[in-house]
Amino acid sequence: MKTQNKILIANRGEIAVRIIRACKELGILTVAIYSKADENSLHVKLADEAVCIGGNLSKDSYLNMSRVLSAAIATGCNAIHPGYGFLSENPKFVSMVEECQIRFIGPKASVIEKLGDKATARKIAISASIPVVEGSEGIIENAKEGLKIAKKIGYPVMIKASSGGGGKGISIVYSDQDFLSVFEKTQLEAMANFGDNQLYIEKFISNPRHIEIQILADHHGNTIHLFERDCSMQRRNQKMIEEAPSSFINDSLRKKMGQAAVKLAKTVGYTNAGTVEFLVDKEGKFYFIEMNTRIQVEHPVTEMITGVDLIKEQIKIAYDKKITLKQKDLTILGHAIECRINAENPFKNFMPTPGRIKRILLPGGLGVRIDGFIYPDYDVLPFYDSMLSKLIVFGKTRKEAIRKMRVALEQFVIEGIDTNIEYQYMIMHHPEFIKGSYDTGFIARFHSVMMEEYHEEFIK
Ligand code: ADP
Ligand code: ADP
Ligand code: MG
Repeated sequence: MKTQNKILIANRGEIAVRIIRACKELGILTVAIYSKADENSLHVKLADEAVCIGGNLSKDSYLNMSRVLSAAIATGCNAIHPGYGFLSENPKFVSMVEECQIRFIGPKASVIEKLGDKATARKIAISASIPVVEGSEGIIENAKEGLKIAKKIGYPVMIKASSGGGGKGISIVYSDQDFLSVFEKTQLEAMANFGDNQLYIEKFISNPRHIEIQILADHHGNTIHLFERDCSMQRRNQKMIEEAPSSFINDSLRKKMGQAAVKLAKTVGYTNAGTVEFLVDKEGKFYFIEMNTRIQVEHPVTEMITGVDLIKEQIKIAYDKKITLKQKDLTILGHAIECRINAENPFKNFMPTPGRIKRILLPGGLGVRIDGFIYPDYDVLPFYDSMLSKLIVFGKTRKEAIRKMRVALEQFVIEGIDTNIEYQYMIMHHPEFIKGSYDTGFIARFHSVMMEEYHEEFIK
């Protein structure tokens, strides 16, 4: 008899909802886990079963490995989808899952272990002849050694947490004088966020583009890439808007970066979905920065331009199916843009704005997609990420996609709490964005200007 597949979703919010949808389409049963505060969350209502696994703080629920695993065993799940964040890149959790004979929807623990440590990942990239940003060979033993390396590379340099993620644990240093204090501050930040204070150093690339390659690899030796996403619209090293394809690279660079990403994946025996992140400088030179061994927040833009459902691919790969897509058959069908809609107030230094949502009107129409989880009377919780929803548009051209995004943002109404919808709308009208000539420093440079120029007109 064929076993009924059943997946535990070790996450919450929009990504849990997104995964439940894919499972339902594939005829797979789903189990949601939730914290006490998440009792009324959408993923709990949509899953076939739901298990409360603990208190409101992530460490008491979504990050509690044995509770997550116990829920999977108790409900008879044969696979776990980790989503992004939480335990998705935790090799200890993944080996526990493997030991219980449950499929982890992602790469093997041993592969995550190598790539999750960003200093080690750099070494692997170097061994595969993939260009990396000039920097330290590995972990910096102490501030004195770091200072020597920084002097050699030349300022400014970036001090980065080896376990870092989500834009945290990254600092820039401009001179010898500041090195020690920044080093210590970054160590503390890394310890507080990731429970690990190991740091490494990279040269600071000025005004780069962040361009990343989506890859898929099955258990049968097939590895493909699904082109790039441009995630250069960032605030404090955290992505805010993503698009695909990138207007900054041509076909030849696209091909080279795609090949480099596939090579890195093959070098480490990578399986499932992953993303190889690069910085591209003004001359069009690209440098590996890290690999994310999980599905990413911005995966929908790739889905829109390729027509491939990445979550379904992840699940099929985990159940040992072959990838049926062929590299040569994949083409870029148009242009997609994603805006992250967050519960935050950009006009008050992006302060998070949890609270009750009173009313919602969602945009729609051809090529407009929302991956979200909020509904009227839902309480946005202060315990978790402030992202409420992802608004994704697809058009034949970049210009059409921008126009669609403007209309969609205009028609996206969330009442009760402040959001960044208007701010995203302003960016969609900025000449630099429209030209596609922005870089990772855009928001830092223009925030104050935007506040003055647009605030009165659009917000008041
Ligand atoms: P993406 O790389 O998919 O764009 P982000 O960097 O925005 O994702 O991170 C997605 C989520 O995962 C955020 O909630 C972020 O805080 C969390 N996250 C990412 N990396 C880590 C990590 N190493 N440790 C803890 N949380 C992480
Ligand atoms: P995380 O693990 O937090 O995602 P990344 O290493 O991917 O960290 O870097 C996040 C962002 O920080 C990049 O997209 C880029 O904007 C900035 N950044 C990282 N390293 C450098 C560098 N060497 N020079 C300039 N910017 C950098
Ligand atoms: Mg990154």
